[in-house]
Order: sequence, then structure tokens, then C-alpha cells
Amino acid sequence: MFSSRFYRVFRPIAVALAAACLWAEPAMAAPPKADSVKGEKVSPSKADKAADKAVAKDAKANAKGDKDTAKAIAKVDKDAKANAKGDKDTAKAVKKAPKESAAKKYAKDDLPTVTFKGPASVGAPNRGKLQGAVKLHSSRSLKLRDRAHAWALPELVKLLQRAAGKIAKKHPRSVMLVGDLSQKFGGQLTGHNSHQSGRDADVGFYVANSKGRPAAMTRFVAFDGTGKSGSVGWAQFDDARNWLLVETLLTDKETKVRYIFVSNALRARLLAYALKKKVAKDLYAKAESALLSPRDADVHDDHFHVRIACPESMKGICLEESVGKSKPAVKAPNNDSPY
Ligand SMILES: [Zn+2]
Repeated sequence: MFSSRFYRVFRPIAVALAAACLWAEPAMAAPPKADSVKGEKVSPSKADKAADKAVAKDAKANAKGDKDTAKAIAKVDKDAKANAKGDKDTAKAVKKAPKESAAKKYAKDDLPTVTFKGPASVGAPNRGKLQGAVKLHSSRSLKLRDRAHAWALPELVKLLQRAAGKIAKKHPRSVMLVGDLSQKFGGQLTGHNSHQSGRDADVGFYVANSKGRPAAMTRFVAFDGTGKSGSVGWAQFDDARNWLLVETLLTDKETKVRYIFVSNALRARLLAYALKKKVAKDLYAKAESALLSPRDADVHDDHFHVRIACPESMKGICLEESVGKSKPAVKAPNNDSPY
């Protein structure tokens, strides 16, 4: 129905359009008369001349346009080159610029200003710097782990040396394995939140072999609460020597240890050992509050993280706690504690 009606209405229009096209085509499509007919030259008409002129003018204009375009392109190229040079110059300048001095860098962080010479732990463990650091070296009783950052306050370096010596004296062939302390001038240390102000040290556990004898370790090994290692089958967490380390650190006469971070499972193990050994009440209490497992730090199941307190002489510039954090959290102490 619709198509036949459509046909009836539009057919005449279509026919008329087609006719118009047929009629118009010669005028639209016929090639212009050639200048020569049968080889005979025909002088161009006025209109042709005018047309030629117009074409020539267009060509000129085009040529000018092209020139302008070419100029514009050249300018762009020049600009690009200039920019490239500018970039190079900037890069050179950046390279030449002296590295920001440590003092300037830390001034931005509003760290306390040190007005004296000599060793100083400045700022917080997780945002600080270090002045007058000394380097820890390996000895008979202490092994520095490969590529460890071994700078710290002299107080911490000496404490570790004393403790390692004492444990080796009591348990021959004991070697304390020490990881990162701080960088020479402190500051951020890859892989650690703290260790920035010379008061932190990672100390590997004392490990016994399957016969219970001291094993010389070169890397940290993780232990669970049963004292076994998931990665090293023969390795045992040496309760006696690890507790002795804790005791030695907490009872040092010269340097106060603020925290010994360790996993909750190993903390419980060490406290249970202390209980079994019937250690003095105040020592047990000290261990209970110093052995912590910070909620927002590594698990510490393969090393102790030892932090010394701010030395008295550095009060005012040495910040005891990490900034932006609450006090390290710890699970409720053993309820069956006799103390
Ligand atoms: Zn650490």
C-alpha cells in the first residue's frame, strides 16, 4: 500500500529530475573547447586571457601561501630546536646544581637545630638525622650483615659491642649478627620506617643447630612461637642466648634501651623462658614493657629491632617516639604473670 502510494507521488518528481539532469549534463560536463582544432591555432578569447590571469594570480598566491607555510614550518622547527636546546640547558643546569645540603633538606622538615658539635640524634626515629655518627665494625663476637648501613650514635654502637662480647664470653663461639643501623647522616633508609636518627639497630636472633650448638649465621632467619624455623629445618631459636641478649641490653649500665621489637609469638616465648628461669621481678617487668610488637611495623619474626632511648645530653633535639604514631602497641601481657 505505502510503496505504491509512494511510487505514485514521487515518480513524476523523479522523472522530472532525471530529465533535468540529462538536459543539464552537457553544459556541466562538456570539456572546454580546446585551443586548437584540427591543429589550427586559435587565439584565446578575452575571457580565456582573464581566466589565465586569474589562474596565474592564484598560482602566485598559492606560491606565496606555500612560502608562508614553509616559513611557518621553518619557524616551528626553529622553535622546536630552541625548546630542545632549552630543555638541554635546563637538564644541564639541574645536573650542575649542587645537591641540596643536608641541613637545608632537613630544615624543611622543621627538625630541631643542633648548636653543638659531636654526636647528636636529631628528631624522631622515623623522621630524623644523625650528626657525629660512628661506624660499627665486625669483630670476633659480632658480624655485620652484608651491605648493612652501620652508622649510629656511639652509645648504640658501644652497646652492641658490649652485649655481643658478654654473650660470647658466656657462650663461646657466639656471634651476634647485626643488620641495618642508620646511614652516616641519618635520614630515610630504604626498607625501614625508622632507623633515621642513629638509635635503631636490627639484630639477628642467636640460632642453635640441631645439636643445640651455636650456629654462625649470615642472614636473618624467621622463627615461630615454637622456636622452629619454617625456612631452615635444622635451625632452632636459642632461648638461653636470646634471653641473655634481652637481659644484657635491658640491664646495661651505660645506655638505656627503650624498645626491643619482636613478634608477639617470640615475645611470649622469651617471657615464658624468663619466668622458668625465675629472673628478678624488676627485670621481668622491664622485659615485659620493652619487648613489643608494633602494630604498624614489620612482624619482626626474624630479628630484634633494638632502640635506645635519647641520651640525656640530647634532650630537646632528640625526640623519643616516632612522629605521627601512637605508642607501639602490644597484645595484653600474659595474664598468668606472677609479677
Ligand atoms: Zn629495624
